[in-house]
Amino acid sequence: MQGSQDILESPIEFLKGVGPIRGDMLKKELGIFKFRDLLMHYPFRYVDKTQFHKINEISSESDAVQIRGILRRVETHGQGRRRRLVGRLRDETGAIELVWFKGVHWLEKNLLVGGEYVVYGKVNAFKGQLNIPHPEIESINVSNNKSASTFAPVYPSTEKLNQKGLDAKGRRKLMLTLFSKLSPQHLPENLPQYIVDKLRLPTHFEALKKIHFPTSQNELDQARKRLKFEELFFLQYRLLEVRKKRKGAIKGHVFSTIGDHFNQFFKEKIPFELTGAQKRVIKEIRKDLGGGTQLNRLLQGDVGSGKTIVALMTMLIALDNGYQACLMAPTEILAQQHYAGIGEMMEGLDIELAFLSGSVKGKKRKLLLERLEAGEIDILIGTHALIEPPVIFKNLGLAIIDEQHRFGVAQRAKLWAKSKPYPPHILVMTATPIPRTLAMTLYGDLDVSVIDELPPGRKEIKTLHRTENHRLRVIGFMKEEIAKGRQVYVVYPLIEESATLDLQNLMQGYEVMEREFPKPDFQVSIVHGRMKPADKDFEMQRFVKGETQIMVATTVIEVGVNVPNASVMIIENTERFGLSQLHQLRGRVGRGGEQSYCLLMSSFKLTSDAKERINTMVRTNNGFEIAEADLKLRGPGNIVGTQQSGLLNFKIADLARDSKILDTAREIASRVLENDPKLERPVHQGLKSYLMKYVGKVAGWGRIS
Ligand code: ADP
Ligand code: MG
Repeated sequence: MQGSQDILESPIEFLKGVGPIRGDMLKKELGIFKFRDLLMHYPFRYVDKTQFHKINEISSESDAVQIRGILRRVETHGQGRRRRLVGRLRDETGAIELVWFKGVHWLEKNLLVGGEYVVYGKVNAFKGQLNIPHPEIESINVSNNKSASTFAPVYPSTEKLNQKGLDAKGRRKLMLTLFSKLSPQHLPENLPQYIVDKLRLPTHFEALKKIHFPTSQNELDQARKRLKFEELFFLQYRLLEVRKKRKGAIKGHVFSTIGDHFNQFFKEKIPFELTGAQKRVIKEIRKDLGGGTQLNRLLQGDVGSGKTIVALMTMLIALDNGYQACLMAPTEILAQQHYAGIGEMMEGLDIELAFLSGSVKGKKRKLLLERLEAGEIDILIGTHALIEPPVIFKNLGLAIIDEQHRFGVAQRAKLWAKSKPYPPHILVMTATPIPRTLAMTLYGDLDVSVIDELPPGRKEIKTLHRTENHRLRVIGFMKEEIAKGRQVYVVYPLIEESATLDLQNLMQGYEVMEREFPKPDFQVSIVHGRMKPADKDFEMQRFVKGETQIMVATTVIEVGVNVPNASVMIIENTERFGLSQLHQLRGRVGRGGEQSYCLLMSSFKLTSDAKERINTMVRTNNGFEIAEADLKLRGPGNIVGTQQSGLLNFKIADLARDSKILDTAREIASRVLENDPKLERPVHQGLKSYLMKYVGKVAGWGRIS
């Protein structure tokens, strides 16, 4: 396209003050190729020159400060290269030293003892004395209010760029040059006016200008709000577009009836009253199932929130409509637990239930597969073995995946192929709560249901933080609990990088336990990743059966062990675990009727992050709260493990802090899609052309092709 907007597409080296050498450097170091890239490279902080500090407020903790006062003394010290200029600035509260090593000659000539100055710089503590090395200094007369009224932008830079004159000052100059060439027509409004008005946002142009050159905190806040909104809005628009297209294009089996299976179970078998959250979620699912589109829903619920019964009742609806259902779990142990638990709840109902995993072999397997294909099996529970090609259903209508994060795209694709003419309805369940904002982004094209309520009568797990000097009392406490017939986990960290040392710690811990809890009165189990699977299983089973009272282990017990009689979880070196892992580990206790405890052992000295993690664990049992805290501490990329699909690479939005803006963005995006799906209305033309030019399509989670 020709015209006024092209200037932003110009190669960066054509900007005055850049040229080929700096241009190359900007490309290599920062990925800045065009004028537009430079524009989109926002400052990462600002130096607030509107605020003045009093000298007595300055401490070694202070970062950069701005002070004003009278220059009291100027002296040179040292010789040759060590020569430095030391000045002393005094205000009504005190005095501080200013030190320069460069430009000494010039400063010496120009600084006026007794004159009034504004000084800006980073505070340094040297032998207990505070000083400001290399401050910027300006006489009050000269500076007037000019420098005293701006927020100076600071850009992410590198050593190489600094050397080529593209330091903070140089970058500021480039931005000024760029803006001297730009007017609003180069950056036309990309949101419809009614949104801009409703949210009281500055214009697109104004926001970009003010993000680089705000003149007040308020202007900066407004610019940020607008650019965060834009970023979140366009992504949500794309995600919702994918979701809408899928719903339109992909038909689903219609489960229109609630029949005998569901009703009989509900009337005669259901072992407890459903919680409000369970009822709500079942309603949401039923609505999807009957609607003629494919159910593609993520069900989030903390450990113990009762997802299984929701899965079971959803499967009964499939059966009532003449379809088969399957439930997949990531490990053999979990799959078997589901098979046993669900089998028990369904006893007496006329339903054929079967189990399939890699361990089902030979004749047994052959028979099972035949019966499945003939439609004699209603519900198949198992591991990922059940999505392998030789497994053929007669009419699979619903697939439930427990612990979604362990299943990849390829596996989901295999699942789709199992059902004709439509893909099966898919419900993915996860016990790893994902912060809401993250779910809306990563799974923004899926429907999400949340069980945010635990069944009644659950005793809160008591969580305590203890250090090494409490060790004897901790052992005393274990003895009391074991005397009551309870069992105890003791968990050690074990990571690849320090595996040998970690293993030693674990073995030492085990020896301590054997000494404190001697045979034959007590039995201690040990399980770690280096053991043979068969030995691991054997030890695990002994603990499950109650033959041993203490299980010393690494995090291998994180998934899949259910021992309701275990009431104490002791975590060693707590500071080395991440929050979500700690929460998963704690979820291993509190499964029976007894009061349960989680003891977080740590060393006395802790980093502030570790303290924050431990305090969070002590403060709350709520997995969603913990996930939110985790998001704030570690950032979104680390939480999901990888920088998935670029969906999380925001320039300015922050999923830990901008949940309100995200909600608004999603809501408005969804309304636009509903009211003007093809963006035909005149008010949407700016939005449409911006989307087409600058906002890439997203793949979406639920789509498999
Ligand atoms: P998770 O969400 O971790 O899979 P489960 O479905 O295994 O949780 O449920 C945990 C425990 O809570 C089970 O023993 C289950 O029988 C019980 N439970 C589930 N829902 C309720 C309820 N509404 N009232 C009482 N107990 C419930
Ligand atoms: Mg479960």
